[in-house]
Amino acid sequence: MVLLEVKDLKVHFKIENGWVKAVDGVSFTIDKGETMGLVGESGCGKTTAAYAITQLLPSNGYIKGGRIFFKEPERVTALREEYDRRFSDAPKERDKEAARLKKELEQRSKELGELVESKKQLEESKSIVPASMAKRLDELRAQVRELDQRLSALTCSYDLLAKSMRKDGSMDDWNREIRKVRWQDISMIFQGAMNAFNPVFKIGDQIVAAIQLHEDIDDDAARKRVSELFEFVGIPQDRMDNYPHEFSGGMKQRAMIALALALSPAFIIADEPTTALDVITQDRILFEMKKLQEGLRMAMMIITHDVSVVAEVSDKIAVMYAGKIMEIGPTNMVFKRPAHPYTSGLLGSFPSIKGKKRRLESIPGFPPDLVNPPSGCPFHPRCQYAKDLCLEKAPDGIEIEPGHVAFCHFSKELWERMRRDV
Ligand code: SF4
Repeated sequence: MVLLEVKDLKVHFKIENGWVKAVDGVSFTIDKGETMGLVGESGCGKTTAAYAITQLLPSNGYIKGGRIFFKEPERVTALREEYDRRFSDAPKERDKEAARLKKELEQRSKELGELVESKKQLEESKSIVPASMAKRLDELRAQVRELDQRLSALTCSYDLLAKSMRKDGSMDDWNREIRKVRWQDISMIFQGAMNAFNPVFKIGDQIVAAIQLHEDIDDDAARKRVSELFEFVGIPQDRMDNYPHEFSGGMKQRAMIALALALSPAFIIADEPTTALDVITQDRILFEMKKLQEGLRMAMMIITHDVSVVAEVSDKIAVMYAGKIMEIGPTNMVFKRPAHPYTSGLLGSFPSIKGKKRRLESIPGFPPDLVNPPSGCPFHPRCQYAKDLCLEKAPDGIEIEPGHVAFCHFSKELWERMRRDV
């Protein structure tokens, strides 16, 4: 049963010198309980596709076309289109205000950090903490919280939409629809775990708050769930009351995974979920996530440039290049016999522990400029098999074997060659 369907999705970013076509006509489906790996070089549009699905695009990102169906609420896409229509020429004042708030937030956070440190020193030396210091600490915490909220409201696309929609009453619809979906139904393990948590709140409290935002559950029950999640991701439970700066990078990454799992969503997007982890922890987390995912029949999309991660956990793989899918199919088929020169190059650039020893390949050249992408097949400037046709016409998808599709004019020949060589 299809849980998520992405159809001809186009996401473009507005920049000074034009539009970056970060995602340009991407289609795929993910079934209930299925894991899909989305792989490709940095900047190929993997994370942008994920942000479009979760409707978390930054303010200069626009869904220019296509549809995202998750369960039923196509309303989410319709609302996003409304946002695009209203904000495609959003005033620059907003960006200026955001920059001003960000600066103020940094100053206050710095002041708060220094004061927290001074208070700690006083306490350690058994000196009395002056009442004025405690009062200033409270004030600063409140200011930081407020600035943080204002900044999020200004930079988050939903809130921008919300402002506009408040006038016409569609705000409530939007809030209802998007909250039904995000985090409870679709959650995300963000790539930047280092910055994902608010520095002035304890990590455990932040996860408790996320749970209580969606569920009517008391503090004790929410904390119990967080402590179970901590155990699951291998963080000692007594670290729940630590602040983000007291966690190592790997621990923050694991806490991020705990946060994503907190509401047992139907679908998890994991953006480079294990990059900050050592290989042993990575292996354990991937194993546990897979086990949990199978147990709860959650679907998962793993975004990574590390094909070994995908090989380990994915049922299906989609290979992206220059904002487009180059090849998609069951993982074992694509890994054994890739039918696209880019996939073949990508797989050849990773060592195989079990296979025979071979010289690692690299793909010559660089990913293209997505403001002015190459004509025809976007991979043609780097492709050793390119012919005139490749410069003139973008390839359609060719189904090589059931469910295995490659977007290359000559994928059948390449696939036949791989089949003979295996
Ligand atoms: Fe290479 Fe042409 Fe195939 Fe593109 S369509 S991958 S340029 S052979």
